Amino acid sequence: MKQVARQARTEGRPTGFVPTMGALHAGHMSLVRAARAECGPVIASIFVNPTQFGPKEDFQKYPRTFEADRVLLEETGVDFLFAPEAAEIYPLGFRTWVNVEGLSDRLDGRSRPGHFRGVTTIVLKLLEIVQPQRAFFGRKDAQQARLIQQMARDLHMDSEIVVCPVVREPDGLAMSSRNAYLNPVERQAATALYRALDGARRGIERGERDALRLIAAMREVIRAEPLVEPEYVELVDAETLEPVTLLRGACLALLAARVGTTRLIDNLLIEERDGWFQTTL
Ligand code: AMP
Repeated sequence: MKQVARQARTEGRPTGFVPTMGALHAGHMSLVRAARAECGPVIASIFVNPTQFGPKEDFQKYPRTFEADRVLLEETGVDFLFAPEAAEIYPLGFRTWVNVEGLSDRLDGRSRPGHFRGVTTIVLKLLEIVQPQRAFFGRKDAQQARLIQQMARDLHMDSEIVVCPVVREPDGLAMSSRNAYLNPVERQAATALYRALDGARRGIERGERDALRLIAAMREVIRAEPLVEPEYVELVDAETLEPVTLLRGACLALLAARVGTTRLIDNLLIEERDGWFQTTL
């Protein structure tokens, strides 16, 4: 992969990279299309990274659909697919980890200790191997994207980190490989995450600026759905990920919830523009 990538970098156009854990859906493919629009060649990776899963999490049962993924990537114009073995990425005696302090302890990091250390370590390794000019990530995982941007800045990395919009199902549910775990009743209930964020969006459009009131309204929507157990509902500064009391600058409303045994996350981006707030689901 290093050899191929080195060759690709001499070809004049910027190389684009889309890292994934496979079980690909339209969200992943939107990243590939964004990469294709700006870059060539486009390199994608599929690697279910063991170090970002906790001991009681779903690493073993995480959906693996390699052959279908490979075909989809090829059809969408990916030039190279990197799908390493875990033993190659983490050989015996592996000892070096990357941790983005502070940002990695909050929100998902609090619910999933060690998760972001695994994420930033694998992303750094993949970016070191591929050395793309641009790497594409989804805002679906907003905290992850923020951490990766911070890591790239802190470590003087050459890759530009591009964050792309959330791709949703027609009823609003954010696409996720984990949606495959939901049974039909849970699938229906799972829209509560979107409905809560959409309620916040409408509240903001009506002029609500108070974070606690927006959070209370989001919790109310989730409470009305007995199959959905909230883990956190927060409104934070998009840069520091620290809670805010009043909307200001760029903020994120972030949700994590369990629907049955499936853990789902979603978020709403809120950006102040000349005194107005633009919201993006
Ligand atoms: P994953 O395979 O879950 O590790 O995701 C690989 C990349 O796809 C990450 O950058 C995710 O943020 C992104 N992604 C996953 N779901 C979506 C979605 N619904 N919309 C946009 N990007 C997504």
